[in-house]
Amino acid sequence: MKFGCRTFPNPYSIKDFKTSLIFGTTPKRWFARTWVPLKTLRVYADGSMKGDKGAPVVLDFRGSVIRLRQVCRNEPGFVVEVPMPRWVIERVGEGGDVKFAMIGLKDNEPYLALVAERVVEPYVPSGYRLVVDVNAWSNGVAYGIVNPSNRIAEYSPLRPNLRLIDTWYHKAEKLSKELGKLKRLGLDSTPGAKRLWREIKALRRKVYAYLRDFAQKRAHELVMKALRLRAGVLIDDMIEESRRELLEEKIPRGLRKIYLAETRRFVKLLITQLRWYGVPYEFKRLPSTICPVCQHELTQLPGRTMACTNCGFKAPRDLVPMHWALREHNYEFEQPQ
Ligand SMILES: [Zn+2]
Repeated sequence: MKFGCRTFPNPYSIKDFKTSLIFGTTPKRWFARTWVPLKTLRVYADGSMKGDKGAPVVLDFRGSVIRLRQVCRNEPGFVVEVPMPRWVIERVGEGGDVKFAMIGLKDNEPYLALVAERVVEPYVPSGYRLVVDVNAWSNGVAYGIVNPSNRIAEYSPLRPNLRLIDTWYHKAEKLSKELGKLKRLGLDSTPGAKRLWREIKALRRKVYAYLRDFAQKRAHELVMKALRLRAGVLIDDMIEESRRELLEEKIPRGLRKIYLAETRRFVKLLITQLRWYGVPYEFKRLPSTICPVCQHELTQLPGRTMACTNCGFKAPRDLVPMHWALREHNYEFEQPQ
């Protein structure tokens, strides 16, 4: 048959996986080789249709279900029905479309990746620039708005509640040490040890969940801000510089890793959303340790103030990238593809 069963281990069929079918977006590139791309038919709330009538994946927005036809079994009428994820309904509500789906295995679970696309209207930049300066979460992400007359119109750091994260992280570390003691005494299968392990896992999950939620919300807010102003977006994601700063601040290794990984996730989320809405963006080095006026090395004074011994420029460290952005006065953004 056309799609073959090479994606699924015999003798399983997608029917066996009905309850564990995972939805997601585009699979990672290294996955794609073994993945099978499928055409889709979209049936909208008003009964109108788009796509290939014989497509194996039918997205039915009337009942919010996805029907998989004849996937892995060449039987006429063999259909598996699964509920449609809410984000698909939301994306389509925003004018998006799901022209392709990919099916494959991820961690031995069948995975249906729905590839949402959006036809974007040309974005007419207004001359506003939204500058996003990404630091690891301990220093936060800062954003600034530069207006068409080249003035910093708004500036604000976005910082998660670090005290909360610290509390959860250190509590998990403390419990890990207790658990280590029990293990050394050979007591690691006692109910007490198991309870400790559950508590540790719950605390770690809390840290991740909190940071993910924070990143998701802030990325969305920034994209909405850019859309409202029709601003072009300049992003400086100096992850390496942040890593050095984190080392200087003597943040525990485990927490440092979490901060860096979640910061990278934030950048990815931001880019995905900017692309979705067709907002032009560029990555731009906006260094906070070099003078934006004369490019001399800046000296850090107490209270994170940066000063130039050559020309007298002085600004809070977090604002230096904004001054670099001011230099990009006639910056031309390319329209996203
Ligand atoms: Zn200078």
